[in-house]
Amino acid sequence: MRNVVIIGSGPAGYTAAIYTARANLSPLLIEGLQVGGQLSITTEVDNFPGFPQGVMGPELMESMKKQAARFGTEFLPELVTKVDFSARPFRLYTDEQTIETKTVIICSGASARMIGIESERKLVGYGVSTCATCDGYFFRGKEIVVVGGGDSAMEEATFLTKFASKVTVIHRRDKLRASKIMQDRAFKNPKIEFIWDTVVDEIDDVETKNVTSIKLTNLKTKEVRDFKCAGVFVAIGHDPNTQIFKGQIALDDNGYVLTHDGTKTSVPGVFAAGDVQDHVYRQAISAAGSGCMAAIDAERYLEGLEH
Ligand code: NAP
Repeated sequence: MRNVVIIGSGPAGYTAAIYTARANLSPLLIEGLQVGGQLSITTEVDNFPGFPQGVMGPELMESMKKQAARFGTEFLPELVTKVDFSARPFRLYTDEQTIETKTVIICSGASARMIGIESERKLVGYGVSTCATCDGYFFRGKEIVVVGGGDSAMEEATFLTKFASKVTVIHRRDKLRASKIMQDRAFKNPKIEFIWDTVVDEIDDVETKNVTSIKLTNLKTKEVRDFKCAGVFVAIGHDPNTQIFKGQIALDDNGYVLTHDGTKTSVPGVFAAGDVQDHVYRQAISAAGSGCMAAIDAERYLEGLEH
């Protein structure tokens, strides 16, 4: 029987592991499919405090993992496929085993929705990004595009005008989904232009690992054209990785874990931290901060069980 099992290996999961390991709770961290989470597929991280010269995303995650290992965290390179929070101890199932635990810290993160083309996958971190806050700075004075028509796309486009010389929003319909206020802000910005009814079919250039242009198709006219740009920000939404928790804990309408009083979920003893419960900030540092909170919440809960 485990004291604490942490699901997920992003900044929230590793931080929860560091804190629970240092509290002598011998945590087990189940790493999931993408070890290191979203940062494992980014390049430079310039906004994580403590790295004045910046740090590569994969290196930052490796350092967090080593720090968690130093205090005795056990790592399991598997994927949780099912959970049962209806009885105690809680049960977590992977393809290989069933794990019993007194507490669970859910740090399974969110995944940025992607357009789904091969060149996009190959150029993530090399001019294709899903995070303007993280990567906007690298596009100073350049012409870039933002894909999407929701609040995220408007927010990212507006933010990116601080750096880029021009931002072109490419949306698949002729109406934005974004709220009126966000739309107005984007329409008023002289650096933002729109291309309507259009999808991105290809991003060049995979060979040189650098974004130089994109191929666009107008869905109404079927016209195909090349469009020069130095970066592509995909802002078509995020999906929290919560499929296995449906029916087990309370989720909001978009599938994010609902937390209260810090990191508590609707089931006492189950905590959640990071992007899986935060669709607002979505930063490595805020995820790490909530991972720390979840660890302290779990520790206090376990102390309560003993008394
Ligand atoms: P969203 O509202 O789901 O919008 C996604 C946008 O991407 C839509 O315009 C959609 O087009 C487009 N899209 C989806 N899949 C696509 C694909 N495969 N190819 C091309 N385009 C695609 O997501 P979001 O903008 O991330 O917002 C999520 C939630 O967070 C919303 O509730 C939003 O209000 C909130 N949010 C709020 C703020 C804020 O208030 N500051 C900022 C960000 C997010 P269609 O319109 O054609 O469906």
